[in-house]
Amino acid sequence: MKNQIQLITYVDRLACKNIKELKALFQNQLKGLFGGVHILPFYYPIDGEDAGFDPINHQQIDPRLGNWEDLKSLSTEVDIMADLIVNHVSAQSVQFQDYLAKGEASKYASLFLSFDSVFPKGATEKEILKIYRPRPNLPFTMYKLADGSTKLIWTTFTSNQIDIDVSSEMGKQYLEDILSVFQKGGVTMIRLDAAGYAIKKPGTSSFMIEDTFEFIGQLSEKAKAKGIEVLVEIHSYFQTQIEIAKRVDYVYDFALPVLVLDTLFNKNTTSLKKWLAVSPRNAITVLDTHDGIGIVDVGSKNGKPGLIEDEILDEIVNQMHRNSKGNSLKATGEAASNLDLYQVNCTYFDALGGDEKAYLMARAIQFFVPGVPQVYYVGLFAGENDMELLAKTNVGRDINRHYYNIEEINAHLERPLIQKLKELMVFRNTHPAFDGTFNLQETPNHILHIVWENNMDKAELYIDLNAEQLDIRFSENGKYHRLKSVI
Ligand code: BGC
Repeated sequence: MKNQIQLITYVDRLACKNIKELKALFQNQLKGLFGGVHILPFYYPIDGEDAGFDPINHQQIDPRLGNWEDLKSLSTEVDIMADLIVNHVSAQSVQFQDYLAKGEASKYASLFLSFDSVFPKGATEKEILKIYRPRPNLPFTMYKLADGSTKLIWTTFTSNQIDIDVSSEMGKQYLEDILSVFQKGGVTMIRLDAAGYAIKKPGTSSFMIEDTFEFIGQLSEKAKAKGIEVLVEIHSYFQTQIEIAKRVDYVYDFALPVLVLDTLFNKNTTSLKKWLAVSPRNAITVLDTHDGIGIVDVGSKNGKPGLIEDEILDEIVNQMHRNSKGNSLKATGEAASNLDLYQVNCTYFDALGGDEKAYLMARAIQFFVPGVPQVYYVGLFAGENDMELLAKTNVGRDINRHYYNIEEINAHLERPLIQKLKELMVFRNTHPAFDGTFNLQETPNHILHIVWENNMDKAELYIDLNAEQLDIRFSENGKYHRLKSVI
Protein backbone atom coordinates (compact mmCIF):
# COMPACT_ATOMS: atom_id res chain seq x y z
CA MET A 1 0.00 0.00 0.00
CA LYS A 2 1.34 3.43 -0.90
CA ASN A 3 2.14 5.59 2.09
CA GLN A 4 -0.17 8.31 0.82
CA ILE A 5 -3.59 9.60 1.79
CA GLN A 6 -6.62 7.74 0.45
CA LEU A 7 -10.04 9.20 -0.21
CA ILE A 8 -13.15 7.39 1.04
CA THR A 9 -16.10 8.13 -1.20
CA TYR A 10 -19.27 7.05 -2.88
CA VAL A 11 -19.10 7.63 -6.62
CA ASP A 12 -22.47 9.32 -6.86
CA ARG A 13 -22.26 11.60 -3.83
CA LEU A 14 -19.11 13.41 -4.94
CA ALA A 15 -20.57 15.30 -7.86
CA CYS A 16 -19.96 12.36 -10.19
CA LYS A 17 -22.52 10.56 -12.27
CA ASN A 18 -20.18 7.66 -12.84
CA ILE A 19 -16.69 6.19 -12.44
CA LYS A 20 -15.40 8.00 -15.54
CA GLU A 21 -16.26 11.33 -13.95
CA LEU A 22 -14.58 10.26 -10.73
CA LYS A 23 -11.41 9.64 -12.70
CA ALA A 24 -11.64 13.12 -14.17
CA LEU A 25 -11.98 14.55 -10.66
CA PHE A 26 -8.72 12.88 -9.62
CA GLN A 27 -7.05 14.31 -12.72
CA ASN A 28 -8.28 17.81 -12.01
CA GLN A 29 -9.68 19.16 -8.73
CA LEU A 30 -8.22 16.37 -6.57
CA LYS A 31 -4.83 16.10 -8.29
CA GLY A 32 -1.95 15.27 -5.94
CA LEU A 33 -4.18 14.87 -2.91
CA PHE A 34 -4.63 11.10 -2.93
CA GLY A 35 -2.61 7.98 -3.64
CA GLY A 36 -5.63 5.74 -3.37
CA VAL A 37 -9.39 5.66 -3.11
CA HIS A 38 -11.72 3.48 -1.11
CA ILE A 39 -14.81 3.48 -3.27
CA LEU A 40 -17.81 2.62 -1.14
CA PRO A 41 -20.01 -0.14 -2.59
CA PHE A 42 -20.45 0.34 -6.32
CA TYR A 43 -22.12 -3.01 -6.98
CA TYR A 44 -25.62 -3.54 -8.21
CA PRO A 45 -27.58 -1.86 -6.69
CA ILE A 46 -25.99 1.18 -4.99
CA ASP A 47 -29.30 2.26 -3.51
CA GLY A 48 -30.50 -0.79 -1.64
CA GLU A 49 -31.37 -0.73 2.03
CA ASP A 50 -27.83 -0.09 3.29
CA ALA A 51 -26.28 2.27 0.70
CA GLY A 52 -24.85 -0.56 -1.37
CA PHE A 53 -23.84 -2.82 1.53
CA ASP A 54 -26.64 -5.16 0.47
CA PRO A 55 -25.59 -6.25 -3.01
CA ILE A 56 -27.89 -8.21 -5.25
CA ASN A 57 -24.96 -8.93 -7.53
CA HIS A 58 -21.56 -8.33 -5.95
CA GLN A 59 -19.81 -9.11 -9.24
CA GLN A 60 -21.63 -6.48 -11.23
CA ILE A 61 -20.93 -2.77 -11.15
CA ASP A 62 -24.19 -0.84 -10.93
CA PRO A 63 -24.71 0.09 -14.62
CA ARG A 64 -25.54 3.65 -13.59
CA LEU A 65 -21.89 4.00 -12.51
CA GLY A 66 -20.20 2.23 -15.42
CA ASN A 67 -18.40 -1.06 -15.78
CA TRP A 68 -15.21 -2.93 -14.80
CA GLU A 69 -13.26 -1.36 -17.64
CA ASP A 70 -14.00 2.07 -16.24
CA LEU A 71 -12.73 0.90 -12.88
CA LYS A 72 -9.58 -0.55 -14.43
CA SER A 73 -9.01 2.74 -16.15
CA LEU A 74 -9.44 4.61 -12.84
CA SER A 75 -6.82 2.30 -11.31
CA THR A 76 -4.22 3.84 -13.61
CA GLU A 77 -4.80 7.13 -11.80
CA VAL A 78 -5.17 6.00 -8.14
CA ASP A 79 -4.95 2.69 -6.28
CA ILE A 80 -8.37 1.22 -5.66
CA MET A 81 -9.79 -0.26 -2.48
CA ALA A 82 -13.15 -2.05 -2.75
CA ASP A 83 -15.43 -3.53 -0.14
CA LEU A 84 -15.63 -7.28 -0.02
CA ILE A 85 -18.96 -7.69 1.71
CA VAL A 86 -18.24 -11.04 3.29
CA ASN A 87 -21.11 -11.31 5.69
CA HIS A 88 -24.26 -10.97 3.61
CA VAL A 89 -26.09 -10.55 0.31
CA SER A 90 -29.36 -8.90 -0.54
CA ALA A 91 -32.60 -10.79 0.01
CA GLN A 92 -33.31 -9.92 -3.63
CA SER A 93 -30.24 -11.79 -4.88
CA VAL A 94 -30.77 -14.62 -7.37
CA GLN A 95 -29.33 -17.01 -4.80
CA PHE A 96 -31.68 -16.13 -1.95
CA GLN A 97 -34.72 -15.88 -4.21
CA ASP A 98 -33.94 -19.39 -5.47
CA TYR A 99 -33.68 -20.58 -1.89
CA LEU A 100 -37.04 -19.04 -1.05
CA ALA A 101 -38.56 -20.76 -4.07
CA LYS A 102 -37.05 -24.22 -3.60
CA GLY A 103 -35.98 -24.44 0.04
CA GLU A 104 -33.47 -27.18 0.79
CA ALA A 105 -33.71 -28.35 -2.85
CA SER A 106 -32.16 -25.05 -3.99
CA LYS A 107 -28.59 -25.38 -5.18
CA TYR A 108 -27.87 -22.30 -3.07
CA ALA A 109 -29.32 -23.69 0.16
CA SER A 110 -25.90 -24.16 1.75
CA LEU A 111 -25.04 -20.50 1.16
CA PHE A 112 -27.38 -19.29 3.89
CA LEU A 113 -27.67 -19.72 7.63
CA SER A 114 -30.82 -20.42 9.55
CA PHE A 115 -31.45 -20.82 13.25
CA ASP A 116 -31.57 -24.58 12.67
CA SER A 117 -28.38 -24.82 10.69
CA VAL A 118 -26.38 -22.94 13.34
CA PHE A 119 -28.08 -24.58 16.32
CA PRO A 120 -28.98 -28.09 15.10
CA LYS A 121 -29.61 -29.16 18.70
CA GLY A 122 -31.58 -26.04 19.58
CA ALA A 123 -30.34 -23.22 21.77
CA THR A 124 -30.90 -21.96 25.29
CA GLU A 125 -31.80 -18.37 26.09
CA LYS A 126 -28.30 -17.96 27.51
CA GLU A 127 -26.73 -19.04 24.22
CA ILE A 128 -28.89 -16.67 22.21
CA LEU A 129 -28.17 -13.76 24.54
CA LYS A 130 -24.45 -14.43 24.23
CA ILE A 131 -24.47 -13.42 20.55
CA TYR A 132 -22.73 -10.07 20.18
CA ARG A 133 -25.03 -7.53 18.54
CA PRO A 134 -24.59 -3.99 17.20
CA ARG A 135 -28.38 -3.60 17.41
CA PRO A 136 -30.96 -4.29 20.11
CA ASN A 137 -32.85 -7.05 18.29
CA LEU A 138 -31.96 -10.68 17.56
CA PRO A 139 -30.07 -11.64 14.39
CA PHE A 140 -32.96 -13.54 12.83
CA THR A 141 -35.65 -12.70 10.32
CA MET A 142 -38.61 -14.94 9.63
CA TYR A 143 -38.90 -15.73 5.91
CA LYS A 144 -41.73 -17.54 4.22
CA LEU A 145 -40.75 -20.11 1.60
CA ALA A 146 -42.77 -20.91 -1.51
CA ASP A 147 -44.06 -24.17 -0.02
CA GLY A 148 -45.63 -22.19 2.81
CA SER A 149 -43.08 -23.18 5.45
CA THR A 150 -41.21 -20.53 7.48
CA LYS A 151 -37.56 -20.28 8.35
CA LEU A 152 -35.61 -18.13 10.78
CA ILE A 153 -32.81 -16.77 8.62
CA TRP A 154 -29.65 -15.28 10.16
CA THR A 155 -29.55 -11.55 9.46
CA THR A 156 -26.91 -9.65 11.43
CA PHE A 157 -27.85 -6.24 10.04
CA THR A 158 -31.12 -5.42 8.26
CA SER A 159 -33.67 -8.04 7.30
CA ASN A 160 -32.67 -7.40 3.70
CA GLN A 161 -29.05 -8.45 4.40
CA ILE A 162 -28.98 -12.23 4.40
CA ASP A 163 -25.94 -13.69 6.13
CA ILE A 164 -23.74 -16.03 4.13
CA ASP A 165 -22.30 -19.27 5.44
CA VAL A 166 -18.70 -18.44 4.61
CA SER A 167 -17.52 -21.85 5.85
CA SER A 168 -19.56 -23.73 3.26
CA GLU A 169 -17.97 -24.68 -0.06
CA MET A 170 -20.48 -22.49 -1.82
CA GLY A 171 -19.70 -19.56 0.48
CA LYS A 172 -15.97 -19.94 -0.12
CA GLN A 173 -16.52 -20.08 -3.87
CA TYR A 174 -18.82 -17.05 -3.73
CA LEU A 175 -16.07 -14.95 -2.14
CA GLU A 176 -13.29 -16.30 -4.34
CA ASP A 177 -15.23 -15.50 -7.50
CA ILE A 178 -15.61 -11.90 -6.36
CA LEU A 179 -11.87 -11.70 -5.70
CA SER A 180 -11.18 -12.85 -9.26
CA VAL A 181 -13.48 -10.20 -10.68
CA PHE A 182 -11.79 -7.59 -8.48
CA GLN A 183 -8.36 -8.63 -9.68
CA LYS A 184 -9.36 -8.21 -13.32
CA GLY A 185 -10.98 -4.86 -12.52
CA GLY A 186 -7.81 -3.33 -11.11
CA VAL A 187 -8.67 -3.58 -7.39
CA THR A 188 -5.46 -3.92 -5.33
CA MET A 189 -6.86 -3.45 -1.82
CA ILE A 190 -9.98 -4.82 -0.19
CA ARG A 191 -11.83 -3.86 2.94
CA LEU A 192 -13.38 -6.90 4.61
CA ASP A 193 -16.70 -5.38 5.56
CA ALA A 194 -18.15 -6.39 8.93
CA ALA A 195 -15.69 -9.29 9.02
CA GLY A 196 -16.04 -9.81 12.77
CA TYR A 197 -19.54 -11.22 12.34
CA ALA A 198 -18.72 -13.73 9.59
CA ILE A 199 -18.45 -16.92 11.65
CA LYS A 200 -21.31 -18.18 13.76
CA LYS A 201 -20.69 -20.84 16.39
CA PRO A 202 -23.11 -22.13 19.03
CA GLY A 203 -22.24 -21.21 22.59
CA THR A 204 -20.01 -18.30 21.57
CA SER A 205 -20.53 -14.58 20.91
CA SER A 206 -20.21 -15.37 17.18
CA PHE A 207 -18.13 -12.20 16.97
CA MET A 208 -14.39 -12.26 16.35
CA ILE A 209 -13.93 -15.76 17.75
CA GLU A 210 -10.88 -17.93 17.02
CA ASP A 211 -12.55 -19.38 13.91
CA THR A 212 -13.12 -15.85 12.60
CA PHE A 213 -9.37 -15.22 12.74
CA GLU A 214 -8.82 -18.40 10.78
CA PHE A 215 -11.41 -17.40 8.20
CA ILE A 216 -9.84 -13.94 7.80
CA GLY A 217 -6.38 -15.53 7.54
CA GLN A 218 -7.44 -17.94 4.81
CA LEU A 219 -9.31 -15.32 2.85
CA SER A 220 -6.35 -12.94 3.13
CA GLU A 221 -4.06 -15.62 1.68
CA LYS A 222 -6.38 -16.00 -1.31
CA ALA A 223 -6.48 -12.25 -1.81
CA LYS A 224 -2.73 -11.89 -1.52
CA ALA A 225 -2.23 -14.61 -4.11
CA LYS A 226 -4.13 -12.30 -6.46
CA GLY A 227 -2.00 -9.28 -5.55
CA ILE A 228 -4.68 -7.78 -3.29
CA GLU A 229 -3.96 -6.34 0.17
CA VAL A 230 -6.47 -6.70 2.98
CA LEU A 231 -7.91 -4.21 5.46
CA VAL A 232 -10.14 -5.74 8.13
CA GLU A 233 -13.03 -3.63 9.39
CA ILE A 234 -13.77 -4.31 13.04
CA HIS A 235 -15.02 -2.04 15.78
CA SER A 236 -14.06 -3.42 19.18
CA TYR A 237 -12.39 -2.94 22.54
CA PHE A 238 -8.91 -1.50 21.99
CA GLN A 239 -7.04 -4.54 23.36
CA THR A 240 -8.94 -6.77 20.95
CA GLN A 241 -7.98 -4.44 18.11
CA ILE A 242 -4.29 -4.78 19.09
CA GLU A 243 -4.61 -8.57 19.02
CA ILE A 244 -6.39 -8.52 15.67
CA ALA A 245 -3.73 -6.27 14.18
CA LYS A 246 -1.03 -8.85 14.90
CA ARG A 247 -2.82 -11.33 12.70
CA VAL A 248 -3.94 -9.32 9.67
CA ASP A 249 -2.42 -7.02 7.04
CA TYR A 250 -4.16 -3.81 8.06
CA VAL A 251 -6.68 -2.65 10.67
CA TYR A 252 -8.44 0.66 11.09
CA ASP A 253 -7.36 2.93 13.90
CA PHE A 254 -10.95 3.54 15.00
CA ALA A 255 -9.78 4.79 18.42
CA LEU A 256 -8.19 7.88 16.90
CA PRO A 257 -11.32 9.95 16.10
CA VAL A 258 -12.49 10.11 19.73
CA LEU A 259 -8.96 10.39 21.13
CA VAL A 260 -8.38 13.45 18.97
CA LEU A 261 -11.66 14.96 20.18
CA ASP A 262 -10.60 14.23 23.76
CA THR A 263 -7.24 15.92 23.11
CA LEU A 264 -8.82 19.03 21.65
CA PHE A 265 -11.85 19.33 23.94
CA ASN A 266 -9.94 18.71 27.17
CA LYS A 267 -6.60 20.22 26.11
CA ASN A 268 -4.98 17.04 27.31
CA THR A 269 -2.89 14.55 25.31
CA THR A 270 -2.61 11.86 28.02
CA SER A 271 -5.04 9.32 26.52
CA LEU A 272 -3.86 9.91 22.97
CA LYS A 273 -0.25 9.36 24.02
CA LYS A 274 -1.17 6.22 25.94
CA TRP A 275 -2.71 4.86 22.74
CA LEU A 276 0.13 5.92 20.47
CA ALA A 277 2.55 3.98 22.66
CA VAL A 278 0.75 0.71 21.84
CA SER A 279 -1.38 1.38 18.75
CA PRO A 280 -0.97 -0.98 15.78
CA ARG A 281 1.50 0.33 13.22
CA ASN A 282 -0.21 -1.53 10.37
CA ALA A 283 -3.14 0.85 10.63
CA ILE A 284 -5.35 2.82 8.34
CA THR A 285 -6.14 6.03 10.21
CA VAL A 286 -9.46 7.83 9.99
CA LEU A 287 -11.28 10.68 11.67
CA ASP A 288 -14.47 10.11 9.73
CA THR A 289 -16.01 7.45 7.51
CA HIS A 290 -19.41 6.72 5.98
CA ASP A 291 -20.40 5.24 9.36
CA GLY A 292 -20.63 7.02 12.70
CA ILE A 293 -17.85 7.88 15.13
CA GLY A 294 -17.11 4.67 17.06
CA ILE A 295 -17.40 4.73 20.84
CA VAL A 296 -16.70 1.07 21.68
CA ASP A 297 -13.22 1.54 20.23
CA VAL A 298 -12.11 3.72 23.16
CA GLY A 299 -14.56 2.61 25.86
CA SER A 300 -14.30 0.10 28.69
CA LYS A 301 -15.46 -3.49 28.40
CA ASN A 302 -16.87 -5.76 31.12
CA GLY A 303 -15.16 -3.77 33.84
CA LYS A 304 -11.84 -3.55 31.96
CA PRO A 305 -10.74 0.07 31.49
CA GLY A 306 -10.91 1.70 28.10
CA LEU A 307 -8.55 4.26 26.61
CA ILE A 308 -10.75 7.00 28.02
CA GLU A 309 -12.53 6.85 31.38
CA ASP A 310 -16.28 6.30 31.09
CA GLU A 311 -17.29 9.65 32.60
CA ILE A 312 -14.92 11.59 30.35
CA LEU A 313 -16.16 9.62 27.36
CA ASP A 314 -19.77 10.45 28.19
CA GLU A 315 -18.84 14.09 28.39
CA ILE A 316 -17.07 13.95 25.00
CA VAL A 317 -20.23 12.50 23.44
CA ASN A 318 -22.31 15.27 25.07
CA GLN A 319 -19.87 17.87 23.82
CA MET A 320 -20.23 16.54 20.25
CA HIS A 321 -24.00 16.85 20.56
CA ARG A 322 -23.70 20.38 21.95
CA ASN A 323 -21.17 21.39 19.30
CA SER A 324 -23.49 20.19 16.56
CA LYS A 325 -26.33 22.19 18.15
CA GLY A 326 -28.11 18.97 19.03
CA ASN A 327 -28.25 17.75 15.42
CA SER A 328 -26.08 14.68 15.99
CA LEU A 329 -28.47 13.63 18.74
CA LYS A 330 -31.26 13.44 16.16
CA ALA A 331 -29.22 10.99 14.09
CA THR A 332 -27.70 8.82 16.80
CA GLY A 333 -28.69 5.72 18.75
CA GLU A 334 -32.35 4.92 18.63
CA ALA A 335 -33.24 8.41 17.38
CA ALA A 336 -33.06 7.32 13.74
CA SER A 337 -33.02 3.87 12.19
CA ASN A 338 -29.45 2.93 12.96
CA LEU A 339 -27.42 -0.16 12.22
CA ASP A 340 -25.02 0.53 15.04
CA LEU A 341 -26.19 2.04 18.29
CA TYR A 342 -22.66 2.58 19.53
CA GLN A 343 -21.66 5.21 17.02
CA VAL A 344 -22.28 8.95 17.00
CA ASN A 345 -23.56 10.17 13.66
CA CYS A 346 -22.13 13.62 12.98
CA THR A 347 -19.65 15.17 10.58
CA TYR A 348 -16.24 15.58 12.18
CA PHE A 349 -16.25 19.30 11.48
CA ASP A 350 -19.56 19.74 13.31
CA ALA A 351 -18.38 17.52 16.17
CA LEU A 352 -15.68 20.17 16.59
CA GLY A 353 -18.32 22.90 16.54
CA GLY A 354 -17.11 24.17 13.16
CA ASP A 355 -13.84 25.35 14.73
CA GLU A 356 -11.49 25.66 11.74
CA LYS A 357 -8.28 25.76 13.73
CA ALA A 358 -9.27 22.69 15.73
CA TYR A 359 -10.17 20.92 12.48
CA LEU A 360 -6.76 21.59 10.98
CA MET A 361 -5.07 20.41 14.17
CA ALA A 362 -7.15 17.24 14.10
CA ARG A 363 -6.10 16.48 10.52
CA ALA A 364 -2.48 17.31 11.30
CA ILE A 365 -2.55 14.83 14.19
CA GLN A 366 -4.13 12.22 11.93
CA PHE A 367 -1.47 12.68 9.26
CA PHE A 368 1.37 12.46 11.80
CA VAL A 369 0.32 9.36 13.75
CA PRO A 370 1.43 5.95 12.44
CA GLY A 371 -0.61 4.50 9.59
CA VAL A 372 -1.90 5.28 6.13
CA PRO A 373 -4.48 8.09 6.44
CA GLN A 374 -7.89 8.04 4.83
CA VAL A 375 -10.02 11.16 4.45
CA TYR A 376 -13.76 10.82 3.95
CA TYR A 377 -15.20 12.96 1.15
CA VAL A 378 -17.37 15.05 3.54
CA GLY A 379 -14.30 15.58 5.72
CA LEU A 380 -12.28 16.73 2.72
CA PHE A 381 -14.63 19.68 2.47
CA ALA A 382 -15.02 20.11 6.26
CA GLY A 383 -18.68 19.46 5.59
CA GLU A 384 -21.63 20.13 7.87
CA ASN A 385 -24.42 17.82 8.94
CA ASP A 386 -26.99 17.27 6.22
CA MET A 387 -30.25 17.65 8.17
CA GLU A 388 -32.32 17.72 5.00
CA LEU A 389 -31.12 14.33 3.85
CA LEU A 390 -31.60 12.96 7.36
CA ALA A 391 -35.18 14.22 7.43
CA LYS A 392 -35.81 12.73 4.01
CA THR A 393 -34.49 9.23 4.73
CA ASN A 394 -34.50 8.96 8.54
CA VAL A 395 -31.25 7.02 8.18
CA GLY A 396 -28.96 8.29 10.96
CA ARG A 397 -25.76 7.92 8.96
CA ASP A 398 -27.15 10.06 6.13
CA ILE A 399 -26.40 13.11 8.27
CA ASN A 400 -22.80 12.60 7.12
CA ARG A 401 -23.45 11.36 3.56
CA HIS A 402 -24.22 14.54 1.67
CA TYR A 403 -24.70 14.53 -2.12
CA TYR A 404 -22.36 17.25 -3.46
CA ASN A 405 -22.74 18.89 -6.84
CA ILE A 406 -19.77 20.23 -8.77
CA GLU A 407 -20.45 23.89 -7.92
CA GLU A 408 -20.42 23.03 -4.21
CA ILE A 409 -17.16 21.14 -4.57
CA ASN A 410 -15.48 23.95 -6.45
CA ALA A 411 -16.67 26.48 -3.88
CA HIS A 412 -15.42 24.36 -0.97
CA LEU A 413 -12.03 23.89 -2.58
CA GLU A 414 -11.62 27.68 -2.59
CA ARG A 415 -12.23 28.04 1.16
CA PRO A 416 -9.05 29.10 3.00
CA LEU A 417 -9.48 26.16 5.40
CA ILE A 418 -9.59 23.65 2.56
CA GLN A 419 -6.63 25.29 0.83
CA LYS A 420 -4.64 24.77 4.02
CA LEU A 421 -5.87 21.21 4.34
CA LYS A 422 -4.78 20.53 0.77
CA GLU A 423 -1.28 21.85 1.47
CA LEU A 424 -1.08 19.64 4.51
CA MET A 425 -2.17 16.65 2.45
CA VAL A 426 0.37 17.25 -0.30
CA PHE A 427 3.03 17.61 2.39
CA ARG A 428 2.01 14.29 4.00
CA ASN A 429 2.01 12.57 0.62
CA THR A 430 5.40 13.78 -0.50
CA HIS A 431 7.76 14.35 2.43
CA PRO A 432 10.22 11.43 2.70
CA ALA A 433 10.40 11.59 6.51
CA PHE A 434 7.04 9.77 6.72
CA ASP A 435 8.72 6.65 5.34
CA GLY A 436 11.08 6.65 8.31
CA THR A 437 10.55 6.22 12.03
CA PHE A 438 7.92 7.67 14.30
CA ASN A 439 8.97 9.29 17.58
CA LEU A 440 6.61 10.60 20.18
CA GLN A 441 8.46 13.11 22.33
CA GLU A 442 7.96 13.26 26.08
CA THR A 443 6.14 16.51 26.75
CA PRO A 444 3.68 18.00 29.27
CA ASN A 445 0.02 17.01 28.85
CA HIS A 446 -0.96 20.10 26.91
CA ILE A 447 1.73 19.56 24.29
CA LEU A 448 1.95 17.03 21.47
CA HIS A 449 5.28 16.72 19.73
CA ILE A 450 5.78 14.09 17.04
CA VAL A 451 8.94 13.66 15.00
CA TRP A 452 9.40 11.54 11.87
CA GLU A 453 12.94 10.82 10.77
CA ASN A 454 14.27 9.12 7.69
CA ASN A 455 18.06 9.44 7.34
CA MET A 456 18.57 13.17 6.87
CA ASP A 457 14.87 13.92 6.43
CA LYS A 458 12.77 15.14 9.29
CA ALA A 459 9.16 16.26 9.78
CA GLU A 460 7.81 17.54 13.10
CA LEU A 461 4.41 18.32 14.47
CA TYR A 462 4.22 20.56 17.51
CA ILE A 463 0.89 21.42 19.09
CA ASP A 464 0.47 23.52 22.22
CA LEU A 465 -3.15 23.12 23.24
CA ASN A 466 -3.11 25.91 25.82
CA ALA A 467 -1.66 28.41 23.39
CA GLU A 468 -3.73 26.96 20.53
CA GLN A 469 -0.54 26.76 18.51
CA LEU A 470 0.01 24.44 15.56
CA ASP A 471 3.46 24.24 14.09
CA ILE A 472 4.87 21.95 11.41
CA ARG A 473 8.56 21.96 10.57
CA PHE A 474 10.43 19.95 7.99
CA SER A 475 13.78 19.53 6.35
CA GLU A 476 14.40 20.22 2.68
CA ASN A 477 17.74 20.21 0.94
CA GLY A 478 19.56 20.32 4.25
CA LYS A 479 17.56 23.32 5.52
CA TYR A 480 14.76 23.53 8.07
CA HIS A 481 11.42 25.16 7.15
CA ARG A 482 8.00 25.82 8.66
CA LEU A 483 4.85 24.83 6.83
CA LYS A 484 3.67 28.43 6.96
CA SER A 485 0.40 27.85 5.21
CA VAL A 486 -1.13 25.93 8.13
CA ILE A 487 -0.22 28.36 10.89
C1 BGC B 1 -20.28 -0.90 6.99
C2 BGC B 1 -21.62 -0.32 7.20
C3 BGC B 1 -22.65 -1.39 6.89
C4 BGC B 1 -22.36 -2.69 7.64
C5 BGC B 1 -23.11 -3.84 7.08
C6 BGC B 1 -20.23 -1.96 8.05
O1 BGC B 1 -19.09 -2.40 8.38
O2 BGC B 1 -19.25 0.03 7.14
O3 BGC B 1 -21.83 0.83 6.47
O4 BGC B 1 -23.88 -0.95 7.32
O5 BGC B 1 -21.04 -3.01 7.59
O6 BGC B 1 -22.67 -4.18 5.82
